[in-house]
Amino acid sequence: MMINVSSISEYVYCPIKVYLRQSEGCNIQTPAMLRGRLVHEVRRGFEELLKRNLWSVNEKMNAKTIFEILMEDVHEFVEKTLIKYCENNDMDPESAKTISRDLKDDLELESWLMAVKVWKIVSTNQKSGSDIADMFFPPVLLEFSIENLEMKLRGKIDRIEIMDGYYYPVEVKSGLPPIKGVWKSDALQIAAYSLLMEEEFNREVSVGFVDYMGACQRRPVFMDVNLRENLLNVLEEMRMMFHQGAVPEMVQSPKKCAKCEYSDFCEYAC
Ligand code: SF4
Repeated sequence: MMINVSSISEYVYCPIKVYLRQSEGCNIQTPAMLRGRLVHEVRRGFEELLKRNLWSVNEKMNAKTIFEILMEDVHEFVEKTLIKYCENNDMDPESAKTISRDLKDDLELESWLMAVKVWKIVSTNQKSGSDIADMFFPPVLLEFSIENLEMKLRGKIDRIEIMDGYYYPVEVKSGLPPIKGVWKSDALQIAAYSLLMEEEFNREVSVGFVDYMGACQRRPVFMDVNLRENLLNVLEEMRMMFHQGAVPEMVQSPKKCAKCEYSDFCEYAC
């Protein structure tokens, strides 16, 4: 059975969730999942707008003007995407409104941070808007589907950034990072993408990144021996679970169960 990389984080949260989804065919779409997909869609378009808008920046502008230029068409784009998304998915208008407000706040904050950086660069280095666009947005492969039959692993990488011939997997998360480093589940996800990319592109992938949009922070994940071993152990446990129906030992957590979409019918729920 092929393992989907996205189910690794779910497995780390609670193995039973993956078991129910994969073996019992339960597939519940939670509001959080719908929200996550929408946020991804908006962010893809936002990045395109930023790239386009950066071309209009010049060295005579101050940070506020640059911010206004970066935000050109962004609010309209968010609204349109949201309306289209609500029509195609069953999302209630109140949740859509909250998501829209949060998204606009986040995108404004990011644009402000970027405007200040861009202003610093154009005012001191006389770079053009197109140079800056290249500087901030390296060549990228978006939503890259990847699989390896031998490893029985597949996934869709949010971004693969390419710099000086090196390939970097990037996972975009809407939430907050831990105080230090990245969440264990995110590290394992990057590790799995790195393995798949090494096979696909025939080159070493020694580092990847997690973009925590809730804090506008990018955190690195280094592919060391421990992380690789950890990933291989988790994959092995998952395979055992699927093939032998062996549910691994786990400590039940009332906190996790309370937030879990399977709590109504999961026999392990507490
Ligand atoms: S209800 Fe609890 S035990 Fe069951 S899948 Fe969810 S988190 Fe796991």
